[in-house]
Amino acid sequence: MKEEKKIVLVSGASRGIGAAIARALAAAGYDIWLNYATSDAAAEKVAMDIRDLGRDCRLLKFDVADSAAVAAVLEPLLNMEVPWGLVHNAGITRDGLMAMMSDGDWQRVLDVHLNGFFYLSRSVVRAMLSARRGRIVAVASVSGETGQAGQTNYAAAKGGMIAAAKSLAREVARRDILVNVVAPGLIDTEMINDLPLEEMLKMVPLARTGTTEEVSGVVEFLLGGAAGYITGQVIGVNGGLYM
Ligand code: NAP
Repeated sequence: MKEEKKIVLVSGASRGIGAAIARALAAAGYDIWLNYATSDAAAEKVAMDIRDLGRDCRLLKFDVADSAAVAAVLEPLLNMEVPWGLVHNAGITRDGLMAMMSDGDWQRVLDVHLNGFFYLSRSVVRAMLSARRGRIVAVASVSGETGQAGQTNYAAAKGGMIAAAKSLAREVARRDILVNVVAPGLIDTEMINDLPLEEMLKMVPLARTGTTEEVSGVVEFLLGGAAGYITGQVIGVNGGLYM
């Protein structure tokens, strides 16, 4: 599908949606810089799958919410190679009603999603600006579009990420760098294990959860040649939950 070697940095790719994205992109011919925070064995397994597909995989263990760690790991690499793509996927939830929410649960969710978007994008987009090309995809959430009771922290972080992605899209379009958002609904990963799914699925027109592959396919599309005229968009992958 492509002539030159293309690298994509995927954050939070040891499990769930990120692992599916990394595998799908490797199968499509991209080399992967695979970020994760703690799950060493799971990340190694994804890396092995990628290498079995004949692609390179570099494991990058750091907390996306740690500005110094992001710079320390990425800057030396970016001096040597410029990734074609960056996928912001790392994420956590710390759900609870706002009236009961601790400072820590508010702050940590903002730090991982919103500050993580800023730290990673700032480093990578500088390199992309010099290369005059690139694709950035942020994995947000339907919660960031509609709001969600019990998720004020998460919805604020994801809504902020959508606004930041649209703003960045406007800043970098002239250098042929495209920035888009994928906003999943209920996707079958560990993240939704504790949710009251039976109740929640009543609100989903397709009446089922989505698969990680149904998200990774859209991310792959946004990184590919057919998406060259798409920027600043939010693509819902939500079974019709939000239209
Ligand atoms: P998941 O199964 O819980 O996996 C989360 C991934 O993020 C793991 O690889 C984890 O790494 C990584 N991660 C967490 N905190 C990190 C940090 N500070 N720095 C670097 N990596 C970190 O979650 P998921 O369901 O696949 O979610 C992936 C993304 O989709 C998230 O942004 C989430 O908000 C979004 N999303 C999910 C759903 C859903 O229904 N599942 C819906 C909408 C949006 P370790 O394993 O090393 O901790």
